Amino acid sequence: MADIDPVKAALPEELELEAKLKEIPKKTFDKEGWNPKTGIGKKVKSGEIKDISQILDGGLKIMEPEIVDILVPNLEADLMFIGQAKGKFGGGQRRVFRQTQKKTAEGNKPNFATCIVIGNRDGFLGIGNGKSKETVPAREKALRNAKLNIMKIMRGCGSWQCSCKEPHSIPFIVEGKCGSVKIKLIPAPKGTGLKIQNDCKKILNFAGIKDIWSTSRGQTRTTINLIGAIEDALKKLVTTKVKSSAYESLGIADGAAKKESGAD
Ligand SMILES: [Zn+2]
Repeated sequence: MADIDPVKAALPEELELEAKLKEIPKKTFDKEGWNPKTGIGKKVKSGEIKDISQILDGGLKIMEPEIVDILVPNLEADLMFIGQAKGKFGGGQRRVFRQTQKKTAEGNKPNFATCIVIGNRDGFLGIGNGKSKETVPAREKALRNAKLNIMKIMRGCGSWQCSCKEPHSIPFIVEGKCGSVKIKLIPAPKGTGLKIQNDCKKILNFAGIKDIWSTSRGQTRTTINLIGAIEDALKKLVTTKVKSSAYESLGIADGAAKKESGAD
């Protein structure tokens, strides 16, 4: 009766850790104090590159997360639930970090993984994974990777039931795969909403997609693979070449829908 289960006792601690981890600190970025190391970084600081499309369309690789901080200022970040709580009784609940262990002669060596999604709800999205021996560095790494992986999502209205020519859905069907998980995103008419699993909903919201239908196959409870599959599908919205006439007929918006006039 008297002895307390160590796993259960550790649980509040774990919850506390998770709450702490969920609060992603909003750093105010100091542009003057930043010392760019790459050529693109220097051009961004000097003001030669004003739009992130210039970098992404040119097929250049972003090596410094500060570039994204400057060019896409209104980014939001959120942790994905990729792990689960351990333990017999309270175990199984979803956690924002995935904990794994390696058995060594000295004892168990834990390792933590996190996954962050960032987006401005208007065509820009990034998904990053980070692993570390501690939870907070894992989150920092994930945030950095998410910024480096930023993508320009092509949106449009590809549904034949709707001819509004506004970028509220996607222009064509895309499919993605990761592990056993296969996911298919289908353009939907206006007012449908996101008919998809909740984690994917979060990602699509961050990309600025409002209406979608979807089908999925495989072990979708393995969230890490589900996220991988949707990332794979969304990548096809970035890499697919579209005829210039389709831009008008499908109402495609590359990246931000509201283009500031006089930008170029
Ligand atoms: Zn439409």
